[in-house]
Amino acid sequence: MTLIHVCCAPDLLSTVLKREFPEAVFYFYNPNIFPESEYEKRLEAFKTVCHRLNLNYMEGRYDPEEFSAFFERYFDEEEGGARCGKCMEMRLKNAALTSGKIHAKSFTSTLLASPRKSIDTINEIGMEISNVYGTEYTGGNFRTGRKEIKPYLEDIYVQNYCGCEASLVKSRRDREERERMDFELLSGKFRNLVHLWKYRGRLIRIEEIPIRDESSLKEFLAVLKPSGLLVKKGSELYGRNWLKAGKYNCRILGESDIYGESGQKN
Ligand code: SF4
Repeated sequence: MTLIHVCCAPDLLSTVLKREFPEAVFYFYNPNIFPESEYEKRLEAFKTVCHRLNLNYMEGRYDPEEFSAFFERYFDEEEGGARCGKCMEMRLKNAALTSGKIHAKSFTSTLLASPRKSIDTINEIGMEISNVYGTEYTGGNFRTGRKEIKPYLEDIYVQNYCGCEASLVKSRRDREERERMDFELLSGKFRNLVHLWKYRGRLIRIEEIPIRDESSLKEFLAVLKPSGLLVKKGSELYGRNWLKAGKYNCRILGESDIYGESGQKN
């Protein structure tokens, strides 16, 4: 049996889609997650995936105070630096110890599926821990494409920051900075459409946007970043799912699919 430490539901999905583990127990151990309400959401997502895929699972201890006391001095470190090395080491050590307790033959982690982590660093940490604790470490690359895991994530909570308080602060700061820059662009390039800023992150009807050609529309959407574009049947964009606008992918939704033919929300 292998004990597989799980960091989050998306990486768990990537791991099981990439590689078969005939006998495995999936172990959620992440005291790094801040705040507790976020921990609960990620744990719930993990359990949902385990139930759906019929995976054996267990939950580790959540002791955020122990984690934050230790990590305070690394708070200002860049993501991917010493703080993250220590954080992964802490979780992998716990996985190795737990695999010994449940008589698992080996251990590994879904951290190897994360596109934001260094596989070499994780494998190095895993091997070192394996040498100290005498439990076999299974390394590898568990990454799969976003496309493969997306269908399984439809109604499952997906986090938008790595996990600890420092990463939450950074992701908020980055988002604010993106918003500030996009608002500046909107005010400069599309001055007469500044009133549409209220649709940032929300659905917008295409009729609200007085832009006719597709390339300018894409430029506008890339700046506004609504949650989706509502189009009517018969519109040129009707039937498409996405409109790629630079790095931003705008969802296209048929108005009648959302509001019904009557215009009332389905
Ligand atoms: S950014 Fe992620 S890996 Fe790094 S310390 Fe925070 S939770 Fe751990």
